[in-house]
Amino acid sequence: MKLYTSNWIWNASVTGFLNTVKELMVNGEEVVDQLIKGEEYVEIEPDLKDFLWSDFNTSSKYNLKPEYEPKLDENRSLPKIGWMFITSVNPQAFKEKIALGQEEEGFTKNFNNLFSNAGPYKNFINTQIKDKKQSILKLFSKPKIIENGLICSFCNQRMVPENNSEKNDYQISFNLALFPDIGGSYGKFPNANFQDISELLICPTCSQFLLFRHTGFEDIFINSTSFNLMYKLNQLVKNMEKIDRKEFLIQAQTSEMIIRNSWTLSNTEIIERKKIKRPNKKQPIVIITFNNIPDLTAKLFVSPVIISYLQKITHNRKITDDKKITDKEQNVMEYIISSDFSKILKLAYKELKDDYTPYYEIKIYTEIQKILGGEQMKEKVISVENLYYEGKNCKNGDLIESLNRNIFKILEMVRLGKKAQTQYTILRIFASFNEKIPENLSRIFNPQFPEDLFQAGMYNFLTGIKNAQKKEEE
Ligand SMILES: [Zn+2]
Repeated sequence: MKLYTSNWIWNASVTGFLNTVKELMVNGEEVVDQLIKGEEYVEIEPDLKDFLWSDFNTSSKYNLKPEYEPKLDENRSLPKIGWMFITSVNPQAFKEKIALGQEEEGFTKNFNNLFSNAGPYKNFINTQIKDKKQSILKLFSKPKIIENGLICSFCNQRMVPENNSEKNDYQISFNLALFPDIGGSYGKFPNANFQDISELLICPTCSQFLLFRHTGFEDIFINSTSFNLMYKLNQLVKNMEKIDRKEFLIQAQTSEMIIRNSWTLSNTEIIERKKIKRPNKKQPIVIITFNNIPDLTAKLFVSPVIISYLQKITHNRKITDDKKITDKEQNVMEYIISSDFSKILKLAYKELKDDYTPYYEIKIYTEIQKILGGEQMKEKVISVENLYYEGKNCKNGDLIESLNRNIFKILEMVRLGKKAQTQYTILRIFASFNEKIPENLSRIFNPQFPEDLFQAGMYNFLTGIKNAQKKEEE
């Protein structure tokens, strides 16, 4: 049986199922690895399928961790997937109840938590119902293949019976009971997957997995096109109360899965559920927000070069323990996330003015230009990069001194994009010491040369000059 990636609610539910498997089953982590091998689908092989939909008196090569296994006969006759569903609400507390011989109490408590007004599946089953066990048994009956009917909106594979004689056995359409915050807002749903669909039908199989949504999405869910990536990214943010995008991107980037699978973060969206209190109202409103990680940001964040330079800025911060540099690193990352690259150049300008050397900032900027501009920009960017060395390797002490004396004037002209004026000033300084302007430097004064790269080049050259001066002082 294969569960393919679909809309984010479905993805969150299947991820929730995977989380439950990991937590409750023996070798849960390995079982999950097997399940997500196919990346864009979760494959439940026959043995595992038999395990999930059989009772606890049936043996299998798979096992639930002994501390989660029911002891009472009545519970041992429930399908394991149903028992896992009940246990998943608060496994730690339930485990203790089982150990103390209070299994019934634990079951009722979890059942009520799931289906109460404040629960994730509000009134999906009436909590007043006498035979709670029977309802779980019916809800999690082994999925049957239905030949005729309507196509399920979640898996697009299986059928929903048209004349629903088994209506009480499972939910056949997506509504408030399955997701109180979303099910009701028909017509206003912010996700394109859901818009303009009058009724989302649910097949008997999807109906069961959709009930694991509470363990996949509480406040944050990272949606993607691969279950492997989704499972791992969501494990990563599991303990974050509020998502810190910077933190998340850095962690995601450095985690080996992205490098190993050469995944990019594109097509990844961050879904957040926020409760907002209203004055004079008891009930807060719940807002679901969607943040895409744009293709571009994703591309930049999987560049090992950019990440390593960002880390270098952090590293420098640790040595110097300089508050200013702390902000600097934060800023550069923020500019990358918001695709506001010109601000990196503005930062470089400010750094130079304050007598810092923005070496890594310019490195990051030129790397971004290489990624964005492709082959045709490469050559120009390389001249800009070389300008640092033209400055740093400058041997003429008088020339270095003169450039430094004029640095504020030059910086100002560069900032304002006065290419010709800058060229004139530089020419005069070089000429007065009988020095020839390096080829890489004269190249950036060409009217055809991109404005921003001219600025980056000049800042890079001046950064080099500053470092050459330092060498002299030593
Ligand atoms: Zn389905």
